[in-house]
Parts: sequence; structure tokens; C-alpha cells
Amino acid sequence: MHFYHGIVSIIGENNCSPMTEQFDVMKLGGGQQKPHFVLVPLFAQGHMIPMVDLACLLASRGALVTVVTTPVNSTRFKALIDRANAGGLLILLAELRFPCAEVGLPEGCENIDQVSTREEAIKFFLALSMMAGPLVACLRQQWPKPTCLVSDSCNPWTSDVARELGLLRFIFHGPSCFFLLCSRNVYEYASSGDVPGDMFHPFFIPGLPQKIEVVRAQALRFFDYPGREKLQEQVTEAEATADGLIINTFRELEAPFLDLYQKSLGKTIWPIGPVSLANKEAEYTVLRGDKTTANETERISSWLDAKDTASVIYVSFGTIATNSPSHIFEIGTGLEASNRPFVWVIKQRDMSQEVEKWLPELEERTRSRGLILKGWAPQVVILSHPSVGAFLTHCGWNSTLEAVSLGIPMITWPHLADQFLNENLVVKVLRTGVALKPQMKTLFVTRESEGLIAREDVERAIEAVMDGGEEAQARRQRAKQLAIEAKKAMEPGGSSYESLTLMIQHVVDATVTHV
Ligand code: UDP
Repeated sequence: MHFYHGIVSIIGENNCSPMTEQFDVMKLGGGQQKPHFVLVPLFAQGHMIPMVDLACLLASRGALVTVVTTPVNSTRFKALIDRANAGGLLILLAELRFPCAEVGLPEGCENIDQVSTREEAIKFFLALSMMAGPLVACLRQQWPKPTCLVSDSCNPWTSDVARELGLLRFIFHGPSCFFLLCSRNVYEYASSGDVPGDMFHPFFIPGLPQKIEVVRAQALRFFDYPGREKLQEQVTEAEATADGLIINTFRELEAPFLDLYQKSLGKTIWPIGPVSLANKEAEYTVLRGDKTTANETERISSWLDAKDTASVIYVSFGTIATNSPSHIFEIGTGLEASNRPFVWVIKQRDMSQEVEKWLPELEERTRSRGLILKGWAPQVVILSHPSVGAFLTHCGWNSTLEAVSLGIPMITWPHLADQFLNENLVVKVLRTGVALKPQMKTLFVTRESEGLIAREDVERAIEAVMDGGEEAQARRQRAKQLAIEAKKAMEPGGSSYESLTLMIQHVVDATVTHV
């Protein structure tokens, strides 16, 4: 075991030692132990980020928190945890070896964003499930003893870990409740005649308070794909047998869907988000998700400072979605044609030779009003800047909620999984966004996809959000109102704040009963 700044422990595979120096701070009045949450994220950036935010939230309420990680994944958020701990929180890292060799993954392939084929993805989930034994051994040696395991919904293997150690187990859902409810209903009603067999035949999602038309290809659960049936079954079972669900959302945003989902599952749901509002200090925001240098952050901020309020389009497609060079060209030329300032993040995996060759000319032509960032960008820092007026997003739920929390209208271009239903929520329910390509007929947008969008679509959608007309103003107003409600939800007395209180209290009460 190593100590960092005296309070963070990195626990090696077979070396889980007690945190003896923490004993004193871990006592509640009356000799009771404070609750100790063990958080098990899925090792994907869009899943780890909100889990680490949740760790900060729980620790800020006085709980002890252990985040389970692996060597490669630690490097991405250790700086933020160190910062949080230096600021007085108590978050431990339990670092386990990721069994790459056992499943035939290249050494160091420990995060979904390093996986490039379907076969590797299958191996990745197998490797994850093999962490159950080492995690049990590790947690057995921890003191204070863990009281509650919070597992990403995509880690059903943690059910055995919690059972073996007699821990309460909550499922943490990263996606929207709208996605959870709609995809569940589509699955449940599949044989009722309300859902067509054809993947691209439009229908209204059954069991919703309003009419939302979708196609089945874009309303599937996370693992409703050939070859992943077993994993989907395990995920469903792990949710059905959990002691409660934690969702990164807030009541004011998704009340009808939360109520219906709670009723449908018969489980307590604690909506505790948006967790991106957990840490407001600039230093956390810069470190969130990955490191950005102070110089780079300064360069971006100064660039934005020089632009008019709400004038800049921010473009980013998260950490997993990839784009073909031709789609990148359409985005770029669409941004150019819009004649508006933009910040465009192109992730490293999208920087093909063709893109490398083409980009400098576009950069040159748009030099006065375009900032192109390659690789990782401090998204929340950018979205928080008053110059940003719209977000062209793939509708990953974190990005969507970050835009919601900051009152930014969206231009939506979903690529996969829950992103299609998130788009429906934003465009049709919340009405704070405009679809880049309504009724796009595809199951996934990938690096191989061609011709799904054109520059004219980009130009049209940007104009619709930015033109200052009545509709655009009303949309912006709705977005601003949601941001006010999001902030309120996270403050003492707010719905998410109180929901987190109830969740922690539930653990304290259950632990007392068990002692
Ligand atoms: N993100 C970031 N910088 C980047 C790309 C992504 O900070 O250059 C963050 C973003 O703020 C969000 C997360 O990574 O918190 C992406 O999660 P999301 O659910 O939006 O999409 P995913 O990557 O899971 O598809």
C-alpha cells in the first residue's frame, strides 16, 4: 500500500491494508461507524466522470468513499481525487490489476476508449467480471468495513461481491431516466403488437405520458445486440435485485419518467444530479475527466473572452463516438458556412491522415473565428464560459446534463446507445435543442458511416438555434430556466440534495439494523 498526501490509499492486487490513520475521523457520535461507500465505475470516461463526482458528493457529506480503479484509469482522475482530499474530503482509491492477459487484451487496455473492435469489447467485459474475486479479497481487508457498494449498471458482476460481503448494493445509472424507461418499455411491450418488429418502422413509445415517435433501432437497452443477450440479462437481473437505484438526473427535469420507472421496477430511486455541479471550483472543473494544462486552459479562456456573449458554438462528440473523415469534413464546412465563432474538439481517434491533411486549410480559412482543439478539452470550463451560445453534441448523458446545468441550447447528433433517446428528451420533451438530422436512419454512427449528415444540415441547425428569432429565444429561455432549477436541485433543500441525504440515511439506518 502507498500513501499519497497521507490520506489516499492505492491498494494493490493482494495488498489491501487497513486505513489505520483514518480511524478517528470515521467515528460518528455514539461510537457508530460512518457509512463507507465503495464505488465501482465502468471503466469508460463517460461512466467514471460522474462516479468520481458522486464520490466527491458523498465525501462532502462526511461519508468515507472508496473508488475502485485500475492503474491506467487511476492516472485519469487521481489528480482530481488528490485535489479533493487536499481540500478536506476523504476519498480512497482501491487500485486493482485489470486482467488483460487472462482474456487476451493488450496490456494496458483498461478503458473502453482503448477498445477498437467488437471482439475486444467482449473481452473487456469478461475481464471486468474477473475482478470480482480480487475485489472481494481487497474489500475484506478494508477497515472501516465497507457498508454499501454502488455499482455502475454495466457491472452486474458486482452483485456477487456485495452478496459475499453482506453489503447493501445500489445501482448507479449514468444515462437519463427517460432512456431507462423508454428502452425498458420498448423491450417489455415488444411482443404486444405496440412495437413493430422492423428496426426502422416508426412507432410511439408505449407507456409514456406523451407521444414520442422513435424507431426500435434507436430505443434499445444498452446490450440489446446479438451476442450480448447474456450480459443484458445480467444487467437487468442486477438492477431488479438491487437495494435501490441512484440516477444522475434531477426531479424537476424528469419527474414523470422517474415516477413511472420507479413504479415499473418497484424500487426506490434517488435522483441526485446533475453531479457535474458537485464541484464548482475552477480547479476541479479543469481536472474533471482528464488533465488539461494550465496554459491550454488559459489559451482557451482568453480566446473565449474575446468573443461576444452567447455567440460561440461548442462542438464535441464525447469520448466513445467516432466519425468518418467525410462526416468530419461536413461538420467542418458546415461550421465554416455558419459564419459564427466555434470551438471544435476533435478527439485523437478521429485524427486520421485524411483529416490531418485537410484540417490546416479549414483552420486557415476560419482563423479569426474558429478554435480547433485536438484530443481532450476541459468541456465544463468551456461550456461555463458566457461566450458559449450553443453546443453541438452527440447527446451523451453527461454532456447533455452539463449543457442543461449551464443553460446552453443544444444541436443534437446522437451516435449510439442511449444518445438517440436523450436527443428525443432534449428536442421533443425539454425543447431546448434542435436535431441536426431528424429521423436519421441508423443503428450506430461509426467511423465507417457515410452520408448521414451534410454541411447544409449543420448550417441549418446552427441557424435555428442561433438566429435570435422568437423560437430560438424561447428555446434559450427554457434552457436558462432548467439551469436555474438544476442549481437549485443541488443546493441544500433542493430535490437532489435531499435525495442524497435520504440515500445516505438509508445506508446508516440499514447498517445500524445489521450490526
Ligand atoms: N469530456 C471532456 N472533454 C472532452 C471530451 C469529453 O471533458 O474532450 C467529458 C464531458 O464533459 C463529459 C464526458 O467527458 O463529462 C463524456 O460523457 P458523455 O456521457 O457526454 O459521453 P460519452 O463519452 O460517454 O459518449
